[in-house]
Amino acid sequence: MNNRQNHRKNPGLYVHVPFCRSKCLYCDFYSIASQTSIPTWLEAVQREMRLYGEDCGDEHRGKFQNFDSLYLGGGTPTILSERDLAALMESARKYFTFSPEPEITIEANPDSLSAGKLQNIRDLGINRISLGVQSLDDADLKYLGRTHSANQAVKALEMIRFSGFTNISVDLIYGLETQNLRGWRKTLDKILEFRPEHLSCYQLTFEPGTPLGKMKAAGKVRSIGDKLEAAFFIYTSRYLEREGYLHYEISNFARATELTSCHNQKYWTHTPYLGLGPSAHSFYSGTRWWNVKSVKKYCQLLAEGTPPVESSEILTEDQLDLESLYLGLRTSAGIDLNELGADPGMSGALAEMQRTGLVKISNGRIKPTRKGFLVADSLPLMFQG
Ligand code: SF4
Repeated sequence: MNNRQNHRKNPGLYVHVPFCRSKCLYCDFYSIASQTSIPTWLEAVQREMRLYGEDCGDEHRGKFQNFDSLYLGGGTPTILSERDLAALMESARKYFTFSPEPEITIEANPDSLSAGKLQNIRDLGINRISLGVQSLDDADLKYLGRTHSANQAVKALEMIRFSGFTNISVDLIYGLETQNLRGWRKTLDKILEFRPEHLSCYQLTFEPGTPLGKMKAAGKVRSIGDKLEAAFFIYTSRYLEREGYLHYEISNFARATELTSCHNQKYWTHTPYLGLGPSAHSFYSGTRWWNVKSVKKYCQLLAEGTPPVESSEILTEDQLDLESLYLGLRTSAGIDLNELGADPGMSGALAEMQRTGLVKISNGRIKPTRKGFLVADSLPLMFQG
């Protein structure tokens, strides 16, 4: 059932830049609020590029070339100096080949940009910026522990557009107890003035172990509850679709099909991707592996010439099928009807899901509706009876 043919598609390259000015209260990504190890990290990531791109003597040799996407994520990649960014891009181009017009994205925070840096980023061939705005209400930003103000975020968007970027993605978060639908609408309205090509709207989650997760456990903050969360989700989807955006994945919206994220779709379709840097994950033809998290350990291993892989797993056919179902039903493309097979139990479940308006069938594919997106994680279970 899985997208087996996708291992022949162009792979995506991800580089994890694990440094931030300070840690946001909700953040579950691996990053550290210290920049002292940037030079060692840069050297290590360049070594890792060489391991895969040149010296690779193991089973990965030659599999990771001709990338059509490069994603500099984090962390806050724009915290790197212009010189470090240039060195990173130079090494990527030295050790790997890319398709003629790759999508090259950098994640950025509003307080880590300047007009000069943006110009430099463009000169390096980076053609897409993913800006972490989260909200344009200072009370929300404070609640989230962000280091920038709403005004700084607006200024950053102005600067990015002025620098000539024609592919901007904006990250936003909804479902905060400091927020109501009217305030959320104000944020969306202001953001839409910039006509971003892409929007990622995430529902706030209280990840265990994060400061916000601990505050929730201690009763100091609370979630807004399932009903209100659903209201935010439906409102956002309807509103952005009315504004001309395609709601193509639960949390993602694009102004046109060609503006959907080329890189992120690899994660949803079992297309190969190579992740470099601490905690980065990779996937190739049913095998997934991931790097050690700690920057220190990552740098130590690479200094010794050892691949910084922490562990790996080989997914069985059944596991790949189940993942395809989960991932496919989180996207508007859905899954191929033929993938369900002729099991009468499956057909019964499908009929019931159509009747209740959770999925629709079009062009031979089972596609979740907006209502289906709301319960996307439960849809595969319904097929399994
Ligand atoms: S800037 Fe991004 S990666 Fe860094 S702490 Fe905040 S949410 Fe996490």
